[in-house]
Amino acid sequence: MPSSSSVEPTAARAGARLRAADSCRRLNGIGPKLAVRLAALGIERIGDVLLHRPSRYEDRTRITPVCELATAGGPALAVVRVDAAEVRHGRRRSLLVSASDGQARLWLRFFHFAPAQQAQMSPGTWLRVFGEPRPGVYGLEMVHPEYQIVADQSAGHDIVAELRAIYPTTSGVTQPRLRDLVGQALTLLDDPDFWPSGLPADVSAELVAAGLPARTGSALERIHRPPPDTDLAALVEGRDPAVARLAFEELLGHQLGLRTRRRRIKTELAPQLGDAGRGLAPLFEQLGFAPTGAQRRVIGEILADMATSAPMLRLIQGDVGSGKTVVAAAAVLTAVENGWQAAFMAPTELLAEQHYASLARWLAPLGINVWLITGRRRRDDTELAEIAAGAPGVAVGTHALFQQALSFGRLGLCVIDEQHRFGVDQRLALRNKVSERGLTAHQLIMTATPIPRTLAMSAYADLDTSIIDELPPGRTPVVTVAVPNTRRDEVVARIGRAVAEGRQVYWVCTLIETSDKLEAQAAEAAAEALSVALDRVRVTLVHGRMKAAEKARAMNAFKSGAIDVLVATTVIEVGVDVPNASLMIIENAERLGLAQLHQLRGRVGRGSVESHCVLLYQPPLSDTARRRLSVLRETGDGFAIARADLELRGPGEVLGTRQTGAATFRIADLVRDGAWVERALALADDLLAYHPREADILIDRWAGAGGAYARV
Ligand code: ADP
Ligand code: MG
Repeated sequence: MPSSSSVEPTAARAGARLRAADSCRRLNGIGPKLAVRLAALGIERIGDVLLHRPSRYEDRTRITPVCELATAGGPALAVVRVDAAEVRHGRRRSLLVSASDGQARLWLRFFHFAPAQQAQMSPGTWLRVFGEPRPGVYGLEMVHPEYQIVADQSAGHDIVAELRAIYPTTSGVTQPRLRDLVGQALTLLDDPDFWPSGLPADVSAELVAAGLPARTGSALERIHRPPPDTDLAALVEGRDPAVARLAFEELLGHQLGLRTRRRRIKTELAPQLGDAGRGLAPLFEQLGFAPTGAQRRVIGEILADMATSAPMLRLIQGDVGSGKTVVAAAAVLTAVENGWQAAFMAPTELLAEQHYASLARWLAPLGINVWLITGRRRRDDTELAEIAAGAPGVAVGTHALFQQALSFGRLGLCVIDEQHRFGVDQRLALRNKVSERGLTAHQLIMTATPIPRTLAMSAYADLDTSIIDELPPGRTPVVTVAVPNTRRDEVVARIGRAVAEGRQVYWVCTLIETSDKLEAQAAEAAAEALSVALDRVRVTLVHGRMKAAEKARAMNAFKSGAIDVLVATTVIEVGVDVPNASLMIIENAERLGLAQLHQLRGRVGRGSVESHCVLLYQPPLSDTARRRLSVLRETGDGFAIARADLELRGPGEVLGTRQTGAATFRIADLVRDGAWVERALALADDLLAYHPREADILIDRWAGAGGAYARV
């Protein structure tokens, strides 16, 4: 049974993968330590080295005269002669070198230097330097330039023109080291056995006709070593045919990976979980409301999947507040009534606790075990033993659900809420907790981030989709306004009035830096200020640095109405449900993305009174921020917002910036390469049917790397 080692690569594994990819031609210079560091960059195989895309390029194609350096707009090459070098004992000891190219003076400064280096800098020595020129104390200065001693001025000018790739990196992996690895890997490309074409000839021809390189090899060569006349902006921004070539292949590879993964899972056996007799009526009686038509339809789709012996792979998309939890509860009830276990995973402790409370309220009266498994809750060994023994019930929790100490004896269903918050690896690790009988659990994934069609098709091609396209009755749209920070006092006064009318209020603090600590401080300050400004208003605070119990206490007090204003950080973003709250203030709204604002705003508008959302912003607004805020003012429809978001921010962000796995492409960008997305989608089945060898190559090359799909 796979353990959590599939999530954290060990040194040995990472090294083994790098070498295993091509045992006779492994790259030189990769020891176990470096292998681990490379793995942190997503580099585990030689192919990953090749697909590690430079983030920018250094122009080393020409020597810039010193008098032009100031306007060079970035690091540049220059050739200068040393006039003097001396050690300065200022605030920091440094070696200061005065040099010139005969026309203008350039100062070189080294804070770290060896005596030998100082000795090298004797007057008359010619140097070729590369560095970022900037104004210094005496004039134009380069701090710690790269330099080489050259025989004379003309030798200095004798360069091999180079647009040098600069790679994203991590500590312990230097640029020269990465360049060396890429160089080694590029030489392997000449061997067709090492890097076979993954496209049938007619598809290659189609790409060539569209102006793209025929082979990925030449595209890679161009990306890592662009010729001197390359339009670098186009290359960096991905408007270069070499990027398009790779992006297309990547889109296709991912599509093939997802479809193959789906086929493979669908051939596994799952427990058949049909109606165990009582149906769902007892659950519906507990709810206190009738499910909407959309909820009933989606529940029907889920139950039909679960009743078959092929594992369910279903994504539920439903806007914020559409009632996904009830739908999941119906699936859970069905699994448990069949004598199986369900795991219900939420992205945060707060949300796990809330789901636990809902499920306990709805299901416990029906005699169903509901367990809470979070990292913060003290481990209850009796419970764990029960779960391991296969007692029917549902375990609700965070990613703590797939900790090693927990094993499910009879897992029949996995529910994953707000899937965009989890990495693919985490989702898989949970699924891999299959039961002892070797049956695969059914999978239900829920997301409140509505996704435009092409994006959904590329990201979730392995899943069937159900959409809850109806909100529970009685909801009124949230009236949204954008207000500059300068009118904060008015907003505070408005809170006072709302509270006087018996309403409850959220005040959300956000920061650019997602530092829990700073965010907590900001929230504390805001809570303090509000308590001072509004006496008789009961204010409390919830943020990510509070203990689970404290948070729960604060949330419960707010839920029960004992608190009027809840000051919170974005921890309340997903899923928190307090229907009586009808006013939300979001501070620094201009800094957040549309999807996140939509999620936050979804905390209000859950009751029948009209709700309001105030987007407090710090002027002046950028154009994009202005457009974002106006989208929110104009619509509450999650799909319309998602479409706007895709246009404004790009797909990585739409799916959530964090380890989205399913949507993190190395090269492709679903908006920029949109035209190729459709083509890749259309080609995928054709390749699987008629070109299985090519399909395997592409899956291994693109989807196998980093383990996203291959490691199922
Ligand atoms: P989300 O889809 O955002 O996860 P929730 O499942 O948290 O939504 O549901 C939001 C709120 O709506 C909860 O208070 C839930 O009990 C309530 N709710 C769900 N379905 C219905 C319904 N059919 N009628 C009335 N209220 C409902
Ligand atoms: Mg929810």
